[in-house]
Amino acid sequence: MSGARGGGRPSDAVRREVWVRSAGRCALCNAYLLEGSMSGRVLHLGELAHIVGGGSSARSPRSLYPLDPARRDDADNLMLLCADQHREIDAAGAVDLFTVEKLRRIKQEHEDRVRHVTGLGPDRATTVVRMVGPVHGNEVELSQQTAAAAVIAEDRYPLFLESYTRHGLEIDLRGMPGESAVLPCTADRAASASRAYYRTAAEVIDGVIEQRLRPGITRDAVRHVSVFGFARLPLLVHLGSRLDDTVPTDIYQRHRENESWVWRDRDHTRAGFTTLLDRDVPAGNEAVLIVNVSGAIGMQEVPDALAELRRWEIRPVGVPTGPGIMRDSGRLERFTAELRGFFAGLEADAKTVERLHVLPAVPMSAAIALGRVHHPQVHPQLVVYERLAGRYVATLEVGGVGRAGAGTTAEGASGWGA
Ligand SMILES: [Zn+2]
Repeated sequence: MSGARGGGRPSDAVRREVWVRSAGRCALCNAYLLEGSMSGRVLHLGELAHIVGGGSSARSPRSLYPLDPARRDDADNLMLLCADQHREIDAAGAVDLFTVEKLRRIKQEHEDRVRHVTGLGPDRATTVVRMVGPVHGNEVELSQQTAAAAVIAEDRYPLFLESYTRHGLEIDLRGMPGESAVLPCTADRAASASRAYYRTAAEVIDGVIEQRLRPGITRDAVRHVSVFGFARLPLLVHLGSRLDDTVPTDIYQRHRENESWVWRDRDHTRAGFTTLLDRDVPAGNEAVLIVNVSGAIGMQEVPDALAELRRWEIRPVGVPTGPGIMRDSGRLERFTAELRGFFAGLEADAKTVERLHVLPAVPMSAAIALGRVHHPQVHPQLVVYERLAGRYVATLEVGGVGRAGAGTTAEGASGWGA
């Protein structure tokens, strides 16, 4: 390469180096440049763009930047781009926006990402399950790309298997009638509307799990699962209860402050969770679990029908309750461990309990974890409560005699919610 002149053509070796470092993708928009999107054929659609222009006239973009002309056709000064964006960064009307420093940074980030992601071996693959529904009329964005970014940050790469359609495993509860009808009514009417909504939504969840996820697990195509859920809490508990225990599973949380699903770095405080026996009376057939994690449920909010029952409370230690409490995956792991410990304790010390009334003030990831930890064959049936129109009412059951594994709405279960 000695004596190479700026403005000449990069050598084949340099061209290959740029293509490989960029993985055949545009460094700006990430388009795959070896295939025509309309023809589906192998086409070389990528272009090598100079960061510092190859010529020395003012017509050559960024060519006045100080760089030895002999280095201008090096791979470090060339980025792989799609044709449109190549034209745009060189256009006279936009060239001031695309500075040498900016383009170098974009190229570096793209090539670093390519190297990182392609370095993740097959054991780091994960099948992404997304469930998104409105919560009292509010919806959030939870695209395939959003989920991909969050799992890549955990050093995994997402599988959106073709057989699951290009959307992967998506449980879409948007547009399903009945969710926001609960807003203006009394607690009893809201509970009744919610139960109807949950019945329909639970069928949709069960359909996706049974028809798409389960066959993948059976034929060993699904070896790790990453779950993203944004929906009403009882539906998240239901989703968790339908996930397979035998497949390692990571649960993700949407962080309210920045609307991101990427877990923060683990903190080094000893923030954890503990279970207190809050009302120490002998355990009968029924008992109560209050989970005060994202908020605190006041004892005066416990429905009258539950007031005399044996009652436990799970709460954080070393950190206050609050909506942002599940900031890192370590906290969710410690919460899950506390739940497992609680259920193990029930098996040992409170065998008589057949029905556990759960009042959850929890982040969404914790609701999924609750459903997943619960084993219908060995644990009491869960009756999940929800705060509607200012009052806690029973809206969903998980597990229970003769219905192992299935969730069901708590209709006809008069006497608890009153
Ligand atoms: Zn592009």
